[in-house]
Amino acid sequence: MFATLSDKLDLVFKKLRGQGVMTEDNVKDALREVRLALLEADVNFKVVKDFVEKVRTRAVGTEVLQSLAPGQQVIKIVHDELVLLMGGSEDNSLDLAAKPPVAIMLVGLQGAGKTTSCGKLAKYLKAQRKKPLLVPADVYRPAAIEQLKVLGRQLDIEVFNSLASQKPLDICREAHRYATLNGFDVIIYDTAGRHQIDDYLMEELEGIRDELAPRETLFVADAMTGQEAVNVAQGFNDRLGITGVILTKLDGDAKGGAALSIKAVTGKPVKFVGLGEKLDALDVFHADRLVSRILGMGDVLTLIEKAQATFDEKEAERLQQKMKKSGQFDLEDFRSQLQQIKKMGSLESIMNLIPGMGKAMKQMQGAQPSEKELKRIEAIIDSMTLKERANHTIINGSRRLRIAKGSGTSIQEVNQLLKRFTEAQKVVKQLQKMGPKGLMKGMKG
Ligand code: GDP
Repeated sequence: MFATLSDKLDLVFKKLRGQGVMTEDNVKDALREVRLALLEADVNFKVVKDFVEKVRTRAVGTEVLQSLAPGQQVIKIVHDELVLLMGGSEDNSLDLAAKPPVAIMLVGLQGAGKTTSCGKLAKYLKAQRKKPLLVPADVYRPAAIEQLKVLGRQLDIEVFNSLASQKPLDICREAHRYATLNGFDVIIYDTAGRHQIDDYLMEELEGIRDELAPRETLFVADAMTGQEAVNVAQGFNDRLGITGVILTKLDGDAKGGAALSIKAVTGKPVKFVGLGEKLDALDVFHADRLVSRILGMGDVLTLIEKAQATFDEKEAERLQQKMKKSGQFDLEDFRSQLQQIKKMGSLESIMNLIPGMGKAMKQMQGAQPSEKELKRIEAIIDSMTLKERANHTIINGSRRLRIAKGSGTSIQEVNQLLKRFTEAQKVVKQLQKMGPKGLMKGMKG
């Protein structure tokens, strides 16, 4: 995410960290580079100017320059100000406090990811035990209605049976009546978009807004379009009064400009970010977590949440019991842990959440385990007998050959896996010794 910006800020920070004594000139130099990095990332120039000024004022304060680690202090200020820029620790959750069915309307340009985000949002709400109704109200793009119906089927969420021949306002009225009669909690309206802001479309959206009085009007912004997304958001906000933003395609090579400027320019918070085409690729937005990721500090909280969401309690219980009884972590456990990790998402996205890991992986280029490699590891373990999985020390030369053949891999790969496994085993033993308290300390430090 935002790779160029991350790299540039990393360079600035490296220099800052190395400085024992800090002067106003050092700060000025560093901030000049921060400014350039932000401008290059397509952040609105006024936003950049204000940002740099705020950091400068705080950084040249005497307590910073005279502190023991002034470089570190400046880094902290940049971090904190970036968080504030994107909304600080504001509560960005959806406002659903109204008589059901609560209306949520998604608006934005064509191709921004509205229809996909409707599906993702419905899935998110369903997981919160809500009963959402999806309503296609885009009668202009020929495939839009069908696209939402397909998503609804995949998610097992009802989609209102809109017809392309109907007027959007009529669809919305009927859908509202239907949802009221059938006990839906939330209605998500997928509205039409154009390639640019268009008067006729805006009038139509205003009509829908006036009729439905949506609790949330979410502008769907394509992060890849940088400042353009911010300008369009402003246009929609002026006409419709949006309540928040869903920033999509953050998984691509967006530079960061939209994410960093949209709140400052429109005054409206980012509520969700889209991180892929799949329907579970939607995260609730947290400014501090995004900044940590941009600054290569990882995002342990998201990692923990993802782990909790996919966490198999029975498996954890089984492992815990087993460790208690025999103190052993064997290849079977190793494999089941790998499977749990795989459930959490693509390996790369998980690695980026671990502090320092994203950067380390970039430096190792090619050394990181790929999805393909994970599959091969599983194949190797599958080719072992139960006895071998329980006690890897019996795996001698001839067994290694058999396993390699059976899994369609090579002896080298089998050797490598066993080496990695013994390393993992050591780590697990250490963690066990530390106990839960020690573990938390290890994570914080
Ligand atoms: P709409 O015209 O605004 O309804 O846009 P769609 O929902 O049809 O999305 C347009 C394209 O963007 C589709 O190919 C989606 O799969 C893709 N898309 C939507 N959200 C994301 C996202 O968060 N990440 C990525 N990589 N692609 C996305």
